[in-house]
Amino acid sequence: MDDEKQLQLFDGFARDAIVSEREAPVSWHLDNEPVPEPAPRRTLWPETDRRDDLADLAAVAEAACDCRRCKLGGMRKNAVPGEGNPNARIMWIGEGPGADEDEQGRPFVGAAGRLLDRLIAAMGLSREEVFIGNVVKCRPPHNRAPEPDEVRACLPYLARQIELIRPEIIVILGGTALKALIDPRSYITRMRGKWIERGGIMIMPTFHPAALLRDPAKKHDVWADMQQVLARMK
Ligand code: SF4
Repeated sequence: MDDEKQLQLFDGFARDAIVSEREAPVSWHLDNEPVPEPAPRRTLWPETDRRDDLADLAAVAEAACDCRRCKLGGMRKNAVPGEGNPNARIMWIGEGPGADEDEQGRPFVGAAGRLLDRLIAAMGLSREEVFIGNVVKCRPPHNRAPEPDEVRACLPYLARQIELIRPEIIVILGGTALKALIDPRSYITRMRGKWIERGGIMIMPTFHPAALLRDPAKKHDVWADMQQVLARMK
């Protein structure tokens, strides 16, 4: 089955699930709402180098685009710092850019990205309301998983993005990101659907959209995980 057919499958599944499981709309920060008081600083990885010098998300993106802290910096076409709402209540974090992302400098723009877009839309949200990023900002060659030294070098950028955005929820997409961000001994098949609390932020691990393209049956698990996310957002 080709990617487009799999995406269509998710469309139908998601629409049915919305009708049966969602009753109330989710509220989000709107432009005309008062800006909330800054929350206390949230640090998920206290041992990571701090980048307090990066004052906002644009500064983080600029620093990542100039970065050569690890070997991936010399292999990329474009760094992919991540994008989205600076006041997002929810962040989505994958493992790293693929070929399409490397080409465009934007996260989740290939087939897996289109499926993620549909999942986000099925939840009643839009890409502009959330923030989407990755553990490493440059593409690992041949789509291999980022290596531990690359994760260590890049983590200060993600940590700073999380500090600046102060999301209520982080959705970790896939086992590689879970191992990099939470515990190298963890497995996505065991941890998905279970909340983790770190630094005052609730973290929900779930399958990566690329895994759903390979195995559409996992969409039911992901949708169940997202129901938990939606319930917490109300
Ligand atoms: S992956 Fe991260 S640490 Fe490595 S060069 Fe790119 S931005 Fe820098």
